[in-house]
Amino acid sequence: MNAPTKKPAPQINATTQPFWDAAKKNELRMQKCSDCGHIRFPIGPVCTVCLSDKCEWVKLSGRGEVLSHLVFHRAYSPAWKEHVPYSVAMVQLAEGPRMFTDIVDPERRYIDEDLVGRPVEAWFDPVEGDVVVPRFKVVER
Ligand SMILES: [Zn+2]
Repeated sequence: MNAPTKKPAPQINATTQPFWDAAKKNELRMQKCSDCGHIRFPIGPVCTVCLSDKCEWVKLSGRGEVLSHLVFHRAYSPAWKEHVPYSVAMVQLAEGPRMFTDIVDPERRYIDEDLVGRPVEAWFDPVEGDVVVPRFKVVER
């Protein structure tokens, strides 16, 4: 079996559509439980705290800090070959949820830095088609 040469596209469905629609407007929106107020991510059909299926999509600040960070120096798929080295991070958002993401770093300034604790903000990357993927950039001090 040949590995894909294109990065996989996000799986957009009725449940996740509002997240992707917001990203097209350069907004980071997540589900807030209408019963207990918990803001959840990943996107899901019910609240992970109280199991309520009622929610509203709230706009987040897009600010957070790096909780963990690592750099891939080897492409495990041809789809990432031209992107190595690249960062994968878990970002702690100001409003509570955590997100796996990557750190936008086209100049490779942060490849050798420990980014844990560094402030980041959402950056919206128009990728193939009309899909916009939220990623994060380091906020300079
Ligand atoms: Zn809830």
